[in-house]
Amino acid sequence: MAKGSAAFEGELCKGCGLCVNACPQHALEMDQTVINRKGYHPAHFIAGREHECIGCAMCAVMCPDQGIEVEKFDRVTPSDAEAKG
Ligand code: SF4
Ligand code: SF4
Repeated sequence: MAKGSAAFEGELCKGCGLCVNACPQHALEMDQTVINRKGYHPAHFIAGREHECIGCAMCAVMCPDQGIEVEKFDRVTPSDAEAKG
């Protein structure tokens, strides 16, 4: 179950690869099938690895063009709820 998600604005990407290297889950790659308006292969999730995202936002922090938005899922499990009363 994914603990977070990241949304990539492909047209902002300049193909630097910093997010790919920063991702601790190794869930990202440059999309060799797409060329954006700037002429770069934009970053995206490796097919099938979206669920590996932990919402750490390392990719978004590293991106020099603010092209990534990360959401960290905040799930309250029944045991959490009990612990909090
Ligand atoms: S939020 Fe973290 S785990 Fe998710 S894609 Fe970005 S760097 Fe990887
Ligand atoms: S860090 Fe930003 S600009 Fe660089 S590859 Fe990732 S999304 Fe593209």
